Amino acid sequence: MRPRIQALSRDLYDHPELSLRERRSSAALQRFLARERFSVRRGVAGLPTAFVARRRSGRGGPRLAFLAEFDALPQIGHACGHNLIGAAACGAAAVVGRLLEGRRGEVLVIGTPAEETIGGKVQMARRGVFRGLDAALMFHPSAEDRVYTTSLACHSIEVVFEGKEAHAVAAPEKGINALTALLRLFAEVERILERATPEVRIPGIVVEGGQRANVVPGRAVGRFSLRARDLATLARVERAFRAATRRAATSVGARARIRFIDLPYAHMRTNRVMADLFKEELKDLGRATIDTPRKSMGSLDMGNVSQVVPSIHPYVAVAPPGTPLHSRPFARCAGSARGRAGLDVATQALARTALVLLDEPRLLDQARREFRHGGGGAA
Ligand SMILES: [Zn+2]
Ligand SMILES: [Zn+2]
Repeated sequence: MRPRIQALSRDLYDHPELSLRERRSSAALQRFLARERFSVRRGVAGLPTAFVARRRSGRGGPRLAFLAEFDALPQIGHACGHNLIGAAACGAAAVVGRLLEGRRGEVLVIGTPAEETIGGKVQMARRGVFRGLDAALMFHPSAEDRVYTTSLACHSIEVVFEGKEAHAVAAPEKGINALTALLRLFAEVERILERATPEVRIPGIVVEGGQRANVVPGRAVGRFSLRARDLATLARVERAFRAATRRAATSVGARARIRFIDLPYAHMRTNRVMADLFKEELKDLGRATIDTPRKSMGSLDMGNVSQVVPSIHPYVAVAPPGTPLHSRPFARCAGSARGRAGLDVATQALARTALVLLDEPRLLDQARREFRHGGGGAA
């Protein structure tokens, strides 16, 4: 099946589409799966390009899902390599689907759009799309091979300070300076960070800070991205941020409004039992993984899936070490022979891991037990 899987990846690569507009890419993946006798339901969870494809054999048995991302970035196309993710998920599912004959269970591909913007999986998890699955597997292209993935919980906030305009030179005392409140909030954020654990991050920007220098700004708007190692820590950071916002507003007599501008991203709980299996398969395919903790972390919408079902989000190298994601060099790699080699390894490792889970109920039980006992935290 290798040539067809590679052609699918190439097709996505040559026609990059932005988040929530990935109609062509989503359709290409669905067509591939329909030919492999999967039944496809599209437009799930209120997202037109999201889909669930399934193929079953017998009654009962495990339900294993491969997750497919397929959105690209403006200007730089598939610089996150989601063309490879989509192709690997469909390829692995097709292989396992064919081998389902004589086994019991169901293999699914869940098409998860808009990873780069709203985090399609966050909305899909909230709508219950991943409920009832026994395992969720995907891979992400990278510049290194790494199976034990961690990510930060994340929530984006908009703060609006309302003050009062006045002549900034002739009668500043008649105004209430909303920008001053916002700048004080930035200073307060520095203090929160001084007291917080090192992985807490609160980057922010000024969206609106007045119109003219000679008018006291009556309105100031900032946006912040709150990040923490897990949801519990994130909740504490949120409380501190709210208190800081109130203090900043009170200090100038302004009013403050806080609005969350997205759904919260949960931290990634990598299932160790499944990650160990994937690592063994990678080793078998000639890849040595890096198992030390990652120095820098972002947030993943897979984190929300990993709170609902035992999950893995391993990285497979498709680029030379040090190549940053979301760069032109990475985009070139995602469409090169190196990308195809990574796709091949990832597809095989995904399919083999799923087959082991199908054939060895003991391991699937172990994975479930670990999940129930809260394993795979942010450690
Ligand atoms: Zn990305
Ligand atoms: Zn990505």
